[in-house]
Amino acid sequence: RTVYLNGDYLPEDEAKVSVFDRGFLMADGVYEVTSVLGGKLIDFDGHLVRLRRSLSELDMQEPAAMGDLLEIHRELVARNEIDEGLIYLQVTRGNPGDRDFHYPPEGTAPTLVVFTQAKPGLAASPLAQRGARVISVPDMRWGRRDIKTVQLLYPSMAKMMAQKAGADDAWLVQDGLVTEGTSNNAYIVKDGRIITRALSNDILHGITRAAVLRFAREAQMEIEERSFTLDEAKDADEAFFTSASGFVTPVVEIDGCKLSGGTPGAVATRLREIYIDESLKRAT
Ligand code: PMP
Repeated sequence: RTVYLNGDYLPEDEAKVSVFDRGFLMADGVYEVTSVLGGKLIDFDGHLVRLRRSLSELDMQEPAAMGDLLEIHRELVARNEIDEGLIYLQVTRGNPGDRDFHYPPEGTAPTLVVFTQAKPGLAASPLAQRGARVISVPDMRWGRRDIKTVQLLYPSMAKMMAQKAGADDAWLVQDGLVTEGTSNNAYIVKDGRIITRALSNDILHGITRAAVLRFAREAQMEIEERSFTLDEAKDADEAFFTSASGFVTPVVEIDGCKLSGGTPGAVATRLREIYIDESLKRAT
């Protein structure tokens, strides 16, 4: 696989980053994940806008190649012959030459890495067809989840807890209210209404969330942007989650409670179809 590192396209085993890189020492970095369908990028502009915001919230310098990111993504899709898959873009505050809590002096170049993952079957996902089982775990992450940082240890721990419990993923709960999934935004459907937590510092502002809510409004579906409790979720007619890698994925079980008869619900299934259709039309 060819990867991109600071201006160069390299075989993956030749791409090396310093041991003093702040991404490694301080988790001082942000990232984006863009999906590829039919060799085209889904909602690339949305991811670029959020990347700019993450960098700005952390007073992080934009990488010099900021204007070339679309071209870099396309080049990697071509070189690695990606039809369906994901592209990860990682930016760290770079290598100051030694370990220090303080940010490095201005002019220290950020580290920029972009790599692809081939994922045949991303659209025809077996998980989406079967429906995901989730468990609930306490949300123990930091208070700026709206910034897409590379601090993914707690989400990793939560995914391991889910795996040990025989589930597919975990929903995170704070003060009795569901914040989001470990790597996705969470929704329930009750009496025909789609309910999802409003945007704040407590959750990542999902690019897929924004698109799905837009398409749902266009399809005259009713949406309530508000927090919901774990109990409400277990009692819902349907549930689902959204992310760039999972699109719209139905949830059929929460902490062992079956929803919509243990099979993907009609609203989630329809939204998945609409999302994939509409996104493909707009893909770049
Ligand atoms: N919340 C969290 C915590 C995530 O990690 C992700 C996936 N990056 C999402 C939500 C969904 O965001 P998006 O739709 O932009 O992939």
